[in-house]
Amino acid sequence: MMVLTKKMIEIRSILQRVGQSSTLTLPSIVVIGSQSSGKSSVLEAIVGHEFLPKGTNMVTRRPIELTLVNTPSSKEEYGEFPDLGLRRISDFSSIQRTLTELNMAVPDSECVSDDPIHLTVYSPNVPDLSLIDLPGYIQVVGQNQPLQLKQKITELCDKYIQAPNVILAISAADVDLANSTALRASRRVDPRGERTIGVITKMDLIDPIRGASILNDQQYPLRLGYVGVVSRAPQSQGLFKKGPTNLLSAIAKQENAFFSSHPLEYGNEAGVNVGTTTLRKKLMHVLEQTMSSSLQSTSDAIRQELEEATYEFKVQYNDRPLSAESYLAESLDAFKHSFKQFAEEFGRPQMQELLKHELDQKVLDLLAARYWNKPIGDLVAAKPGLDNLADLPKAEPDSLYWHRQLDASTSALTKLGVGRLATTAVSSSIQGHIDSLVSNSTFASHPFAREAIMEAASTILNERFYSTSDQVENCIKPYKFDIDIEEREWSQGREHVGGVLKKELQDCETALKNLESNVGGRRKLKEVMTFVDKARKGDIVVEGDGRSGAGGFSAALLGKGREAVFLRDRADIIKMRLFAVKSKQCATSKNKYYCPEVFLDAAATKLASTAVLFLNVELLSEFYYNFPRELDLRLGRHLSEAEIEKFAKEDPKIRRHLEVIRRKELLELVLGKMDSLRQLEGLERDRQAAG
Ligand code: GDP
Repeated sequence: MMVLTKKMIEIRSILQRVGQSSTLTLPSIVVIGSQSSGKSSVLEAIVGHEFLPKGTNMVTRRPIELTLVNTPSSKEEYGEFPDLGLRRISDFSSIQRTLTELNMAVPDSECVSDDPIHLTVYSPNVPDLSLIDLPGYIQVVGQNQPLQLKQKITELCDKYIQAPNVILAISAADVDLANSTALRASRRVDPRGERTIGVITKMDLIDPIRGASILNDQQYPLRLGYVGVVSRAPQSQGLFKKGPTNLLSAIAKQENAFFSSHPLEYGNEAGVNVGTTTLRKKLMHVLEQTMSSSLQSTSDAIRQELEEATYEFKVQYNDRPLSAESYLAESLDAFKHSFKQFAEEFGRPQMQELLKHELDQKVLDLLAARYWNKPIGDLVAAKPGLDNLADLPKAEPDSLYWHRQLDASTSALTKLGVGRLATTAVSSSIQGHIDSLVSNSTFASHPFAREAIMEAASTILNERFYSTSDQVENCIKPYKFDIDIEEREWSQGREHVGGVLKKELQDCETALKNLESNVGGRRKLKEVMTFVDKARKGDIVVEGDGRSGAGGFSAALLGKGREAVFLRDRADIIKMRLFAVKSKQCATSKNKYYCPEVFLDAAATKLASTAVLFLNVELLSEFYYNFPRELDLRLGRHLSEAEIEKFAKEDPKIRRHLEVIRRKELLELVLGKMDSLRQLEGLERDRQAAG
């Protein structure tokens, strides 16, 4: 029938995609032999091409699982390395180079590896076969090779020559069969010689009478018999390199010439099997038989594996269907939904608050630099006749000095680059929000998607950055010349700045408390602070800079003391400012020169709300419109199947889920194929029985 092997080879390649199922082995022909026994020559004669690594230094270091696929309707011959994604290599010397590289990548110190190389050859000139080439047995261990190498090779070969595989034991005719390592290994696992084919190479090197007696060997009888070959590529290679079948026909010609010149020993009457062509036929036949007889057991094994996968799917995943595409689509939908919610919650009021906060900080800095830049004693002293905070503020409203101070502060505020500041603040806030949306979404465990989303956001924001910040800057321009504050705005500012100062005060006090507990209590801190105060006034002379400690305090403690003194002074100043803001004088905008804090706060609010109007149009609305579209572009239908798969598998849970589904589907597919094959087999048997 001969279609069985082909079908089974197809099934094998599907099973290889199932992966990790060691139990699912379909029979193969495993080729073993000593180094130089002619193993490669035999394999190449079967394939019809030189493609195996050549050289003396252990060139086969990994098993080569070679699948031959007969393609009767095509003239093309080519090889593929499915694991490497290398397809349709029609130059066999390039296949040879790849194989050499793959083998040589196994370091000298290890010499062999049991990780197989998969190679498939498609050709109209090859039979459907599945062959495994293994490292040749060695007699002596070489200089740079590990001492256990012999042992390692033997173990590797032993792993492969187990049932149901067929063993192709290669021995050279010019070596006594009693010394054939291949036959000895085969006898260990197949003592009755039921699944071993003996191949005797180099028949041309011995006397035909001896040759014939070897092929008839009664000493080591094999049920599948021996085949004698002369498979060395003919020396006059140049002549035969023209067409694809040349190595095949050259060897056939050479063998024919040789064997037919000894008709008595090797002729039809002699009852021996000779020639590569005979060998190929035998291999096909034996493999087909083996496949057929293992059909049942393989089906059973696959069915069992399928049952396990089905059970896992049910128990672990509740039979929940999933595909990489649906997973991505659902994740994207959920993310867009969460984004929509965010968009509803983040608008003008939120931007206003954000900007105002940024500007508050700038205002505090400005005030600190212009007004509150001296020790508290000086500040109080600067206001003549004043030693009681309750009298604050007493700056003369008509003094040109205070006018200039406020004008300079206002100008510094309006000219600090509000456009840029506002756009940056809003952009990075949006980006921060998107980042946390991602962290709370399924995309959190997908670095690829995470990056794509963050990039989508920053692309849109960056594109709009300059024009937005220009526009904002432009629209606040009038304020650079004049800011008119209404009473209502004034009182709002007054209230707000009170809050800001209170918050500052709180922060200061908390920091002081922390320092206290840090140094081991209020008393201790007080002591150090007193010392620092005295040293500052010059009441105590501290030698050096006090860095190595002074007054019995360690340097670290002194450092804390200084920090505490700073915080205390700062808190005092803030209290004074709060007091000023709350005082009657600051109740109306008429006294703006008394109350720079209130005036600047109101000015900052004006700047913020004007900026927000433009930010809303130029940045926020644009972002809300474009972001979901940009997401679709980067994570939607435009991704290739492989990219989607890669994405989904980044999450280990999803990966396992997808894999169990895939395994189940592949096993179902295989089982279906196996069942119909078995039916075919049954029909065939019935037909034969009837005939
Ligand atoms: P491997 O190490 O077992 O793969 O052996 P090779 O196929 O590389 O062959 C070893 C050597 O034996 C090479 O020099 C081949 O040319 C030579 N050789 C292989 N087959 C034959 C044959 O049938 N007759 C002769 N005379 N030499 C052969």
